[in-house]
Amino acid sequence: MDAGVRKVLYVYALQNAVKHGNVPNPKAVMGKVLGAHPELRPHAKEIPGVLTEVLDEVAGMPPEAWKARLEELAPELAGETNSGKKDRSKELPPLEEAEDGVVMRFAPNPSGPLHLGHARAAFLNDAYVKRYGGRYVLRIEDTDPRRVDPDAYQMVQEDLKWMGLGITDIVYQSDRMEVYYDLGRKLIEIGGAYVCTCDAEYFRDLKIKQKACPCRSHSIEDNLALWDRMLGGDFAEGQVTVRVKTDLAHPDPAMRDFSIFRIVDTPHHPRIEARVYPLMNFSVVADDHLLGITHVIRGKDHIANTRRQRYIYDYFGWKPPVYRHYGRMGIEGVVLSTSSMREGINAGTYTGWDDVHLGTLRAIGRRGIRPEAVREAVVEIGIGETDISFSWENLYAKNKAVIDHVSDRFFFVPEPVSVRIEGAPEQVAEIPLYPGDAARGVREITFEGAAVLPRAETEGAALVRMKDLFNIRMTGAGQAEYAGDDLAAARAAKAPIIQWLPEGYGIPCRVLTPEGEVFGVCEPQVAGYQGRTVQFERFGFVRVDRADEAGVLCYFTHR
Ligand code: GLU
Repeated sequence: MDAGVRKVLYVYALQNAVKHGNVPNPKAVMGKVLGAHPELRPHAKEIPGVLTEVLDEVAGMPPEAWKARLEELAPELAGETNSGKKDRSKELPPLEEAEDGVVMRFAPNPSGPLHLGHARAAFLNDAYVKRYGGRYVLRIEDTDPRRVDPDAYQMVQEDLKWMGLGITDIVYQSDRMEVYYDLGRKLIEIGGAYVCTCDAEYFRDLKIKQKACPCRSHSIEDNLALWDRMLGGDFAEGQVTVRVKTDLAHPDPAMRDFSIFRIVDTPHHPRIEARVYPLMNFSVVADDHLLGITHVIRGKDHIANTRRQRYIYDYFGWKPPVYRHYGRMGIEGVVLSTSSMREGINAGTYTGWDDVHLGTLRAIGRRGIRPEAVREAVVEIGIGETDISFSWENLYAKNKAVIDHVSDRFFFVPEPVSVRIEGAPEQVAEIPLYPGDAARGVREITFEGAAVLPRAETEGAALVRMKDLFNIRMTGAGQAEYAGDDLAAARAAKAPIIQWLPEGYGIPCRVLTPEGEVFGVCEPQVAGYQGRTVQFERFGFVRVDRADEAGVLCYFTHR
């Protein structure tokens, strides 16, 4: 096959790599090449051999060099990578009234660490603040003592730090109780709210029938007296609530005279001593208004709250912020409910908030997922109202583009089997830490007659190439013979090119994956990579979590 064909394959491999920000996908490249160059179809059989070499070459280049090389060799294909077009379609839609800057907020409840659902709200709001300029308020919504986990304050801060948000202000709602009490009194004074001492069941019953409860007709003076008694400790939990006067004929019963203050006795709040607490719809309105929040981006599970909150804005004569409610995001494969996570941790089913089975940011971070990848994935999902399911594959592809060039390559042999190789020359393999970037150095691995190979590769495989070493032929259990050095011969025979380690050289290595643990041995240097990701060749990326005398513990990232 001539050099021209090789070049065609090369430029399409580059194009594929640039387009996806990842090592090229052989099937996609092959499809594109045969589509664009039908004259090559008669050679379809010979192409794969050349393609493998070409793909290795492209995969071996530093990813940041792909685009320039493609532009140099095939500018027309560079134009078609539609990275420009893709970026535009991925851009978030503009927000109205944002041109002069925005004030936005991320408002988590400190009930546990943050998870992927929070990351979506956090990164979307962050993206808009970055786009339009302005302030980004972190508001810790801790006015429901039953949903406050004292440890969560610290965890939320750690998670925010990991995400790298551009937070400019931090507000704790528990510091603002007087603000809510004052505004609560004011709403009563202007006739927008009343203190209700009806039994909850009784009220619910009347509400369904669109009827007013007796408290609704209290005079303002009576309401203020009751409000003072409520703050003064005259009522027990459940005996009293403050309700906004809305519309008893509203078609949605949830809109009818909803509560905005209540008494909560237990458990004690970790930051303040209080008995009367505002409910979310009231504290959120008070703060969104007083903190000058201009735009609120939140999930559509808050749409009913937005409607409720509108009544409060109207009573005070305040202008509500601009709202956007995005669709639900189904996330499969991990546990996201804070209460299930907590139960599982207490029961010992999960090792902690960063267990591999959980969807917390600390769990996915421990697996080697980088915040930049999460940011890109959720911003790409955008703020559309359609419900979607979160694509792990997409997150992994983005993460791979982030970690690939910072992850050194090593051999990890899962389920190692010792194999004596007859007739093999002793030699030192020099294997690049990162293919295509000689400056990063090499690993030197000395072969002296026996090796460990992954069990799966020793069963039945006739000819095998030990990567960057030589070819061998399996001759029986734990036995093989040297079969020459020729890489081309191994390729022609479609021999698997496998990772290996000299017998007795590797250190024990355990890889935790959501599906279970994989045991094996890895290169000793891996112990020096704690807290970093590496790529175990032919196995996938892992984050090195711990190293001690017992060996190395890694968390599986993705392939
Ligand atoms: N703290 C609320 C939550 O985490 C957010 C309130 C809001 O976005 O208005 O669901």
